[in-house]
Formats: sequence, C-alpha cells, structure tokens
Amino acid sequence: MEKHSGYMQALRCRECGREYPLTATHVCEFDFGPLEVVYDYNRIKKSLTREVIQSRPKSMWRYRELLPVANGPTIGLEVGFTPLIKADRLAKRLGVREVWIKNDAVNYPTLSFKDRVVSVALSRARELGFDTVACASTGNLANSVAANAAAAGLKAYVFIPTDLESGKIINSLIYGANVIGIKGHYDEVNRLCAEIAGKFDWAFVNVNMRPYYAEGSKSMGYEIVEQLNWKVPKHTVVCMASGSLLTKIHKSYQEFIQLGLAPGTDYKIHGAQATGCSPISTAQKAGLDFFKPVKPDTIAKSLAIGTPADGFYALKVMKDTGGAAEDVSDDELRESIRLLAETEGIFAETAGGVTVGVARKLIASGAIPEEDSLVLCITGNGLKTLDAVSGHVGQPREIRPSLREFEALVAAEARPIKA
Ligand SMILES: *Cc1c(COP(=O)(O)O)cnc(C)c1O
Ligand SMILES: [Zn+2]
Repeated sequence: MEKHSGYMQALRCRECGREYPLTATHVCEFDFGPLEVVYDYNRIKKSLTREVIQSRPKSMWRYRELLPVANGPTIGLEVGFTPLIKADRLAKRLGVREVWIKNDAVNYPTLSFKDRVVSVALSRARELGFDTVACASTGNLANSVAANAAAAGLKAYVFIPTDLESGKIINSLIYGANVIGIKGHYDEVNRLCAEIAGKFDWAFVNVNMRPYYAEGSKSMGYEIVEQLNWKVPKHTVVCMASGSLLTKIHKSYQEFIQLGLAPGTDYKIHGAQATGCSPISTAQKAGLDFFKPVKPDTIAKSLAIGTPADGFYALKVMKDTGGAAEDVSDDELRESIRLLAETEGIFAETAGGVTVGVARKLIASGAIPEEDSLVLCITGNGLKTLDAVSGHVGQPREIRPSLREFEALVAAEARPIKA
C-alpha cells in the first residue's frame, strides 16, 4: 500500500457500502455494485477555499483535493479550465433568457472532455505502479489515452469498434498506441475488455480504474460553478453515453454546496441522447427507474452505448433533481451542430449536436422555462466527426481568379447578406 493516500479514504460500494482499499478494482465482491472513491471532506473543507482555488493555475487540477490522486497529478497538468461562453445569439434562437456553453471541444490535448478523466486515470495508474494503460472506447477516450500515454511514456492499448469515424481512428493511431479494432459495437468491445482486464495486469482506465477515472468528470462541473461566479446553474444539459458524466456533474455541484464553495440552491440536470441509441432517455420519459439495453444505430457514435454502465444512476440523478431527458434524430442533431456553429462560431461533434438539439426540445416542452438560465455541456470537437456533416454543409462557390467574376458573383447574390 501507499504511505499516504492524499484526501482519499477508501473505495466504497454504492449498493451495500462495504469498503475496499484504494487499488485498481471497480466492483463489489458481494453484489457487483460499482465502487466509488470516498474522501475526507472535513480535511478538504479546511484547505480548499475559493481563494486557494483562484490562486492556482487555470487547469482542472486547481480542485486537486477533490480528485483521486495521492500525490498530485503527473499526467495532464494542463487539462481543463475550458471556456464558459455566454451564448446570446444561440439563446435568442432557442427562445430562452440566458444560455452558457461549457466548451470542452477545445480541451487540451485531444479536444474532448475525455482528457479530464484520462488525466486522473493515468496519474493514478502511475501511482499504483502500472506501465501499460488501456481502454474500451467509442473514440474520444481512445484518442485521449493514446495521446496522454505517449506524452507520459506509458504503453497503451486502445480498443475501438471498427466502424468509427476516420477522424477518431487516425487521432488514435498518430500517437503510436496499439489500436485494436473490434468487429462489433461498443458493448462487445467493452465485454471483451473486461475479460482482457482479468488476465493482463494493465490499468484499464474505464474497467479496473473506473472509480478514479470517473471522478475526473467532476472537474467540468466545478469549473462551471466557479466560472458562473460560484453559482450552481438552474439547468444543465448533459449528453449521455454510459451516463457517468451526468452523474458526476451532479456530484460536483453537491460537493461544492456541501463544502460551502457555492450557496445551496435548487438545480435540474437534464440528459440528452440520440434517438438511435436512447436507452436512458427512453426509460426517463416512460418514468422507469431501469433502462432496457438497445442495439445502437446513430451517427452520434461517441454516445453509442446500448448498455450504459451508469444508466441506473443517471436516471436517479434526473429524478432527484427534477431533470428531464430527450433524444434527437440524426437529422435533428446535424441541424443543431449547424445552429451552434452559425450562432456562436463553435464547431461541435455529433454529441454536441445531441446536447443542443435536446435543449431545444426541452425548451419547447416547457421543461426548461423561457425565463431561466441554462448551461450546455459541449463535450467534443466537430473536426473529429467530419463524416457526420460532410454532404450537409453546401459547397464553396468556384470562380476563376478574376475580379470581374467575383463582382458578378456578388451582384448575383440572391440571398441578402446576413447581419
Ligand atoms: C464519452 C463521451 C460522452 C459521455 O460520456 P459518459 O460515458 O456518459 O460519461 C459525451 N460526449 C462525448 C463527446 C464523449 O466522447
Ligand atoms: Zn456491495
């Protein structure tokens, strides 16, 4: 065991409460419940003040007492503190008073929120003495594990479905990781990885390292609160794959309120999925506590998990906070990618189109009232999913290199120039 474990106390089963040592393990031996990191909040409360946080560098590690590493981070020190943008032009189009975009499409270094979870998981893996890291991925996680492992000098195996977008595949290969394509969908990749993790002594970031990995998502919520001048937003819309990010944003708000870093307030967390893979939103809309697994069929491949590991807990968070869920078709999510791009100059990947499209539906249904303020979590970059929109964005108008041809083109411009 380590000499000390920072502010961590144990791993604890979410179902029965049994405690386990802080090793690379993720399920309870008695009931297979997921394990979660337990912290010493009394000690954290004494050392983590707003002033301390604000005195630190602008990265996710300014909240390091609330992240599960014993000795501080060694990998991904620059990750996080992405912009929170006041999106007035989008708010106008959505017909709501105030919209904020939490823009993890520009997270460092691989342009998705997965850099947060990977920074934590690899830092912790190194503390526990691993030299090889691995993951089962729908794309962004593979990119981030490959890049961060390269920078840290760790060996990496990343497992992905073979039918991913080429941008996601190339973004894993370029770093020299072992990229293994599995002829099957994500749920089959994940099942295989659980078997591999049982045989190989590797740090699988979302299998045996999952309790640590998942905590990294909390940093997105901490940043939202700090960037809103220490206020928890009334509404937060989060897209869901396994459902983990949604549950961890809730946890981050709870922790900040409990530690006195933000005033207590009512807030709602809303969940977003693509209709072609919507086990969680379908269950929420039917008022059920459990989801039914599905076979994914959507262009939102980063969210295409048919058996979401945290689906049950995501449903519970929406129920407890009074949040809603919705889902959007591939056409709707494509249109929403364009809406965000045309109003705010932000090019999100398919998952971002899901978030914006679902927000639009929740505003229309009244689940998010017009006079309220909301935060949209944009989790990945559109440059990695060009396949999803190519053929839907028009073509450049071509002319010869002649001023006369250009003047003729402008004169013939039928559409009025947009203000
Ligand atoms: C992984 C991912 C998510 C959601 O992840 P969870 O498994 O629900 O935590 C959302 N957006 C993007 C772009 C992702 O890659
Ligand atoms: Zn248990």
